Amino acid sequence: MSQAGAVVIGAGPSGAATALVLSRAGHHVTVLDRAHFPRDKACGEGLMPSGVAVLRRLGLLDAVLATGTPRIRGVSYTHGDGTPTAYAPFPMPIDGGEGWGLGVRRTVFDTILIEALRREPRLTLREGVRASGVLRGASGRITGVSTEEGPVWAKAVIAADGLHSPMRAAAGWAVATSGEGRYGMAGHWKLDVRALDRIAVSFGDREEWYQCPVGSDLLLVSTLAGRARIGVTARNYQAAARAAVPALRGAELVGGTLAAGQFRQRARTVAADGMFLVGDAAGYGDPTTGEGIGIGLLLGQRLGGHVAALLSGEVDRKSAEVRYRRDHAEIWRNPSRVTALALMMARHPRLSRRAVARAVDRPHALGALLGINCGYWGFGKLTPRDWLSLCGF
Ligand SMILES: Cc1cc2nc3c(=O)[nH]c(=O)nc-3n(C[C@H](O)[C@H](O)[C@H](O)COP(=O)(O)OP(=O)(O)OC[C@H]3O[C@@H](n4cnc5c(N)ncnc54)[C@H](O)[C@@H]3O)c2cc1C
Repeated sequence: MSQAGAVVIGAGPSGAATALVLSRAGHHVTVLDRAHFPRDKACGEGLMPSGVAVLRRLGLLDAVLATGTPRIRGVSYTHGDGTPTAYAPFPMPIDGGEGWGLGVRRTVFDTILIEALRREPRLTLREGVRASGVLRGASGRITGVSTEEGPVWAKAVIAADGLHSPMRAAAGWAVATSGEGRYGMAGHWKLDVRALDRIAVSFGDREEWYQCPVGSDLLLVSTLAGRARIGVTARNYQAAARAAVPALRGAELVGGTLAAGQFRQRARTVAADGMFLVGDAAGYGDPTTGEGIGIGLLLGQRLGGHVAALLSGEVDRKSAEVRYRRDHAEIWRNPSRVTALALMMARHPRLSRRAVARAVDRPHALGALLGINCGYWGFGKLTPRDWLSLCGF
């Protein structure tokens, strides 16, 4: 059907960022998405400050702020039974920039990304087109994707097709996951949240609840839990949310609920044979620390640079793949460890209760952890005393 320099499957944050960088570097890009935008998606809708920095670099931050998207100054942690609340503001990035995140309503945020794609003269956006498989040349190299409207051939194939990535599966790169797994649900509530400038996390009975303001009168309330527990919540999300988040009493649930999972997904590789995986498609841990969109944007920006160098002949395919694999491992290394720590807290209420109580008096350690999650510094930032406090001693 058509030949592009690169074809990007998925126009969410990571696919859009990759495609923008490529197109602005002078390359012809085709972006396919099975959805028509605006499309909604289950998400906690908290964009970390490191993701805000990517938006600024892509020239999209002003457009997002112009929609009234609220700034998020930090994160608080508590337990549903009324134990104390620990709060830490986001630390300032060491190289300057924004020390705040954003509460991004996905329908609004993803539409701004889509509008940016539509403005690119060398970019073709095709909504409502589902990629159904990868096409390989005689050497085994991936040379395009099949769609119901015919094949799309490209020198580089970029799969940004989300958590369950059909392209990752089609390439044979999906790794089976075992265990009960974790799932999430989200809903939007109409209430005045102008005074709320933080993500509020509350540990409950085998579940966590997250609040994030995404407009002056819109609060996103999401929950994460194991399969059995989320099944119970799904039967009556409204009542469960009202019980877990007292501020919702009297508030109205707007629209339906959205669900997703299981979160833990692994890819055998994130780049090989001419195909690159980016964002959730490249593998995912858990949304508990809320860095998926930010890291998707950052990875998209890096990948766009590597594929641009490949398409302009500055590097060969193997070098572009090696460089991107290295970036991916480096960017995820510390956030994965922060996620593991957060999941341990979620699994052990006695531990998390003690850790929250310690963090009330010692918010510095929590703030340092937020900075590690944003990629500002490594775990060396934490002193032995910080570790003891984070572990509830
Ligand atoms: C409950 C929950 C809470 C979360 N909380 C947060 C949070 O607070 N902060 C945060 O940063 N992240 C959070 N995340 C994670 C975040 O939503 C993802 O990391 C992020 O959306 C990944 O972006 P992406 O571009 O990789 O994929 P997506 O946003 O999933 O986009 C993938 C796109 O690919 C398209 N697609 C899929 N298959 C095909 C196909 N075969 N052909 C064509 N198109 C296709 C889809 O239509 C979609 O538009 C949360 C996730 C969940 C489920």
